[in-house]
Amino acid sequence: MIESKTKQTILIVDDTPENIDLLTEALAPHYRTRAAINGEKALKIAFSDEPPDLILLDIMMPGMDGYEVCKRLKDNPGTQRIPVIFITARSDEGDEELGLNLGAVDYITKPFSLKITKARVRNHLLLKQQFELLEAISMVDALTQIPNRRRFDEAIDAEWKRAAREGTPLSVLMVDIDHFKEYNDHYGHGAGDDCLCAVAAALQSGVSRPGDMVTRYGGEEFAVILPETGKEAAAHIALRLCECVFEIKLPHANSSAEPFVTVSVGCATAMPSEKADSPRVLFDEADKMLYEAKGTGRNRVCCVVCYSTDTPV
Ligand code: GH3
Ligand code: MG
Ligand code: MG
Repeated sequence: MIESKTKQTILIVDDTPENIDLLTEALAPHYRTRAAINGEKALKIAFSDEPPDLILLDIMMPGMDGYEVCKRLKDNPGTQRIPVIFITARSDEGDEELGLNLGAVDYITKPFSLKITKARVRNHLLLKQQFELLEAISMVDALTQIPNRRRFDEAIDAEWKRAAREGTPLSVLMVDIDHFKEYNDHYGHGAGDDCLCAVAAALQSGVSRPGDMVTRYGGEEFAVILPETGKEAAAHIALRLCECVFEIKLPHANSSAEPFVTVSVGCATAMPSEKADSPRVLFDEADKMLYEAKGTGRNRVCCVVCYSTDTPV
């Protein structure tokens, strides 16, 4: 999950080809470079599947100027984190202030020193890399190394919106280890931690689609997001997760359910809508179903369809 690319990409935007050539020549030994001769082309590259890591942006260009390009980049969640450095002939204090206030990280005036430009690019790319690393770490649970609660909260919001847009069902599973307090009491806290790691791995082995996400919600509870998954498929996966945990056959001498570590699963499915409700509803219903699974014997799955429009889920 945490990875760093070998060569970062810099997008150079300038309507003067000589400036593009100069910067490309200076940066190409260290970075992948791409070029755009106007604002529209720059935005097309920035919004593509392979956005650049940093943009060197001229201000005065025919058509869309650099300020407007910067504004559009900063207005969009998909591109707002790309650092923008203005490189411009406008050396006025007011211009620089405007550029920085639009969200650019730096402002270099022409004629520029290639050495200083390279140093500034390097520094901003380093900062970006450090930020991305910290962000990735902040989304991973330190014990089990699977996505954490913070990541779950972020992902469920995004998946809810996506499902509402695309008219697809969304399911959530809440998974809780049965009698885990007794497990800790009997085997010790260290063994409890190992058990959490083994259960996390078993749950992960039970989902297969790239969009499925197993997260540690807290303590001995896991939350699973299943995008584009209707009630039958979700129930099927929930059962499979129960089986995956059972099959590791971790002895649990003090469980009333089985002599092994087991989990109970609450499953909820919805057809998300942009107008009504929120992922909270889905999550609360999954939690209620988990409570029911606990109350009816544990090591089992309880399911519900918690919100549906005319479209069957
Ligand atoms: P139930 O079957 O009803 O879920 O019972 P339970 O004992 O699993 O539930 P309870 O909520 O009473 O206990 C949860 C236990 O999980 C208590 C707590 O000590 C343990 N726990 C929570 N987080 C961790 C952890 O990070 N490591 C370890 N070893 N134990 C943890
Ligand atoms: Mg429990
Ligand atoms: Mg619990």
